[in-house]
Amino acid sequence: MISFVGAGPGDVDLITIKGRKLLEEADIVIYAGSLVSKEHLNFCKEECQFYNSASMTLEEVIDVMEDGLDKGLKVVRLHTGDPTIYGAIREQMDILDEKKISYEVIPGVSSFTAACSAIKKEFTLPEVSQTVILTRIEGRTSVPENEDLEKLASYGASMAIFLSVQQIDNVVDKLKRGYGREDVPIAVVYKATWEDEKIVIGTLKNIGEKVKKEGITKTAQILVGDFISGDYERSKLYDPGFTHEYRKASK
Ligand code: SAH
Repeated sequence: MISFVGAGPGDVDLITIKGRKLLEEADIVIYAGSLVSKEHLNFCKEECQFYNSASMTLEEVIDVMEDGLDKGLKVVRLHTGDPTIYGAIREQMDILDEKKISYEVIPGVSSFTAACSAIKKEFTLPEVSQTVILTRIEGRTSVPENEDLEKLASYGASMAIFLSVQQIDNVVDKLKRGYGREDVPIAVVYKATWEDEKIVIGTLKNIGEKVKKEGITKTAQILVGDFISGDYERSKLYDPGFTHEYRKASK
């Protein structure tokens, strides 16, 4: 069996218990070395074999998996955050399907929720936004035209922008046009949950300058929207005057 495992955003204790157990039992671990903390590998058996996928092709990764399975070994493919978001797991799973090799996918804590926790905010506030958009700006990998950042920003929803901080000026320009204002709050969280985590908070007007001052050029989440500061309504769920399945109104 191949197990795709989400390693979480950085802090090794943010992997799931299931993920940690799989690492402890693994004979082979193929990890995404550019973003997965090496500390995770300390939980593996001494004889476990490690492969850093950063320097491998898709075909080489599949070869290692297939070879391991032939020998009856347990293989873990360790992805950063949650494997289902910008994890490039679909192309691996499709080849495994073709080869009739079974696999499982264990979710992880994505960096977008880790970053929101780092700034101690909530993406979904009543009367502010009930929608979270996960996206990226186009770079060497394109983004479908109707998902352009400017267009998405025009919804005014809460946004978590991956893989884009190296283009902060472009991101800000598109957001300004989409939101139609410059005072929208925005936070850039570098390496959320790692020891060298950095948080920069500002508005569309000044964030570019602040991010450059901190020298942040990679591994950051850009969180944007009015959920970061300003007013909101109380939730109905905990409102004394509101009855729901588990609680009767008290007044
Ligand atoms: N599957 C991962 C995302 C992989 S794409 C997840 O669920 O988080 C890589 C991008 O994720 C980076 O460019 C950055 O935007 C973001 N990222 C990953 N780890 C991060 C962290 N600890 N803090 C902030 N952003 C992070």
